[in-house]
Amino acid sequence: MILFNQPLITGNELKYLEEVISSKKLGSDGIFTQKCSAWMETKIRCKKALLTPSCTHALELAALLLDIQPGDEIISTSFGFVSSANAFVLRGATMVFVDIRTDTLNIDESKIEAAITDKTKAIVPVHYAGVGCDMNVIMELARNHNLKVVEDAAQGIMSTYNSQPLGSIGHLGTFSFHDTKNYTCGEGGALLINDDSLIERAEILREKGTNRKKFLRGEIDKYSWVDIGSSYLLSELNSAFLWAQLEESEKINEHRLLLWNRYYENLSRLNDIELPIIPQNCSHNAHIFYIKTKNIEERGQLISYLKENEVQAVFHYIPLHSAEAGVKFTRFNGADEHTTTESERLLRLPLYYSLTLDEVDLICNKVKKYYG
Ligand SMILES: *Cc1c(COP(=O)(O)O)cnc(C)c1O
Repeated sequence: MILFNQPLITGNELKYLEEVISSKKLGSDGIFTQKCSAWMETKIRCKKALLTPSCTHALELAALLLDIQPGDEIISTSFGFVSSANAFVLRGATMVFVDIRTDTLNIDESKIEAAITDKTKAIVPVHYAGVGCDMNVIMELARNHNLKVVEDAAQGIMSTYNSQPLGSIGHLGTFSFHDTKNYTCGEGGALLINDDSLIERAEILREKGTNRKKFLRGEIDKYSWVDIGSSYLLSELNSAFLWAQLEESEKINEHRLLLWNRYYENLSRLNDIELPIIPQNCSHNAHIFYIKTKNIEERGQLISYLKENEVQAVFHYIPLHSAEAGVKFTRFNGADEHTTTESERLLRLPLYYSLTLDEVDLICNKVKKYYG
């Protein structure tokens, strides 16, 4: 069976874990955490990168940092992962969804302005499949309406929009290092801060509301409770694991792109399905390879056919506004022309670092065979 996902292992993970064990410093913000943060600050060009226990936690930290209050509204898309909504719903906000574009399945930037009210506090663009949302339009709207932008770049590490790395464009950005993502430490994430004025408070909220970070830097001689907060720290063990992967990021990205391009070339002459579209001004990280079938029935049949042929294919997402909690905590602004119909057609094929070109060819042959 060709599995849908296999977590990335590069080979240096154990060595770095042993270094952490012998250093006897297992907590947070040690040498490997510093290496990973510095990598993000140079490679992704964010002003500050704080490692967190997950992208979900990074989004929660973003919502705390932006002082999201009950009654506030946050604009995003319903075709997405639950955490980009839940982080704000936890603070009492209402998620206001607008429709997606059919080419990238990202937020339709032309629908955002109509959804802005005097309660709107932030826009949360989700870069689906690591392909950038139209950030120029989104940042311009944010400036004009005094809103903050939190990029959910969970899938977008190493991708760019107009040559700017995803996660470095909004006021805040978030990454995920879950084991289904391009780089992983099992569970992990990061909050990227691009707005200087948010850095100091972010460090405090992440350290249980204390100024411990200042203390560690020797700026004060004891630390104390100064604000609300929680523990949004990543253990040094996870950071060491992650570093083994980030230090090989280019090699990994290249191989993923090779696989993605092979899928694309192989399936491009098949008229029964639609393939992903990458806008000219975006470079992507081959996080997901998806195809679009005619409808939900055809998708179900193709998934079963592939399963019978030893290939595991999956779909996502059930639109958030139609889910049980979504009905309570969200509303859809304007018509749902594409969110539901596109989500019903989408099928994801296996894509991970240890997948081979031969396996991609084999999977494509099965897909072609299904369509005769
Ligand atoms: C994976 C993912 C998340 C959540 O990441 P975790 O690290 O598992 O919390 C959030 N948003 C999107 C778009 C994701 O793909």
